[in-house]
Amino acid sequence: MPKNIILLGPPGAGKGTQAKRLEAERNMVQLSTGDMLREAKSSGTEMGRRVAEIMDKGQLVTDEIVIGLIEEKLEQGAAARDFGGFIFDGFPRTLKQADALEDLMARKGQTLDAVIEMQVDDAALVRRITGRFTCGNCGAVYHDETKPTRVAGTCDVCGSTDLRRRADDNEEALKTRLMEYYKKTSPLIGYYYAKGKLAAVDGLGEMDAVAAAIAKVLDKG
Ligand code: AMP
Repeated sequence: MPKNIILLGPPGAGKGTQAKRLEAERNMVQLSTGDMLREAKSSGTEMGRRVAEIMDKGQLVTDEIVIGLIEEKLEQGAAARDFGGFIFDGFPRTLKQADALEDLMARKGQTLDAVIEMQVDDAALVRRITGRFTCGNCGAVYHDETKPTRVAGTCDVCGSTDLRRRADDNEEALKTRLMEYYKKTSPLIGYYYAKGKLAAVDGLGEMDAVAAAIAKVLDKG
């Protein structure tokens, strides 16, 4: 049975890293509104231009835009036969988005099986985010201190030299992103708790330990 889950947590909690693992290990499909918006930004469309400035400052883009993006992706559906379910990564981020997701899922006859809250303390987030860079070609994630590339400037996985830092991975934008999280997104923890869907995992551990904790939630019932 496919399982649809939300990975909920502040910027730098490791949502993207764990989503990539779930894709590889369980045939799940990651739906990251952040990735969709970055794609729109680099494609130079009208929407991309509108969101670029907001994203770079660390603010949230409008609910209408992200709900529209998610709707489109759900529309395209899960064609593969061994489809393992959707991982919502970075969506929903507001109560309005959460309500919209519920409506969309209901219309598609789908259920939301679990909301996994990845708990990380704020000091760790700042350290994680300010050293982070990724491969522009294959998406591998690195960190200046905890996970540098073996050869400076070259991706370990695919050999590309196109290593990038996100425009919003700096201390100033991170402050805004954290504030947006606490003001607008953290109420979702109570919202999903009240719906009986919330499961918390410690996001501070080693990547494998976090993955094991998430697997336990997915394999329960
Ligand atoms: P992320 O990659 O999830 O950290 O998202 C990067 C940026 O994209 C955020 O700081 C927001 O500006 C924007 N963004 C991503 N997802 C959402 C969302 N669900 N609602 C509003 N803005 C979003």
